[in-house]
Amino acid sequence: MARRWGVLSVFLACWLPGVAAAGSLSLDGPWIQGGLVIGTTEPGAKVFIDGRSVRVSAGGVFLIGFGRDSKAATRLRVVHPDGSSTDKSLSVARRDYPEQRIDGLPDRQVTPSPEDLKRIKADNAKIAGVRSRDSDRADFTSGFAWPAQGPISGGFGSRRILNGRPRRPHNGVDVAAPRGSAVAAAADGVVALTHPDMFFTGKTVMIDHGHGLLSVYVHMDDILVADGQRVKKGTPIGTVGKTGRVTGPHLHWGMSLFGTHLDPALLAGPMEGVR
Ligand SMILES: [Zn+2]
Repeated sequence: MARRWGVLSVFLACWLPGVAAAGSLSLDGPWIQGGLVIGTTEPGAKVFIDGRSVRVSAGGVFLIGFGRDSKAATRLRVVHPDGSSTDKSLSVARRDYPEQRIDGLPDRQVTPSPEDLKRIKADNAKIAGVRSRDSDRADFTSGFAWPAQGPISGGFGSRRILNGRPRRPHNGVDVAAPRGSAVAAAADGVVALTHPDMFFTGKTVMIDHGHGLLSVYVHMDDILVADGQRVKKGTPIGTVGKTGRVTGPHLHWGMSLFGTHLDPALLAGPMEGVR
């Protein structure tokens, strides 16, 4: 990760005489709405978040994501291979999200016709199919980098008023860059979906980074990768465009852990040379 957040380590020792069993747990990431925490424990440990079992890699790595409106506390339980367990309550910091008004969108894109709604439903089904994958690769350990360079024209979580009508909050970050600028993979992974023309998102690429963590790149002018292709952090995957619901060329970059949207800017940290 470009930015290092506080690392919490908990080492538990069993004080029974002659027993050397110990459980370890470290949590790296911001405990804040929209944040992703990378946890590390022993290989073979079992991890439960709010009672739900999550994947632990062969190396003992697991993910915890806090959504835009995540509640104030998340329960974490780690059952160590020696049978001991660690329970923690993670306090999640609240954020205030600004309002963003965007006018001048074609009305059809703000209030879609019944015909368009059918297309949107089909697009959403494809996206949901990819979001439900739980692959065992831990590619996210490559860390994250900004996929495009330019001023941030829309932040994560903002409350959106489109053509004067309230719509869903913004679920990614927008990087303003000229049409044709390079778009690169934010982290190592496998291309999970390419689509030439989704209703809202236009030319779209999704990359699977493992354990349910996905990145999505939207409104592109050109797509340079194919489904199933392995990419490294920084591999060119397309170019910035203005396809789908947009008023001008930019890259919309989204991150999600299964269905939960995360703030990509927290993963990549400050963009060098731009702000
Ligand atoms: Zn956007």
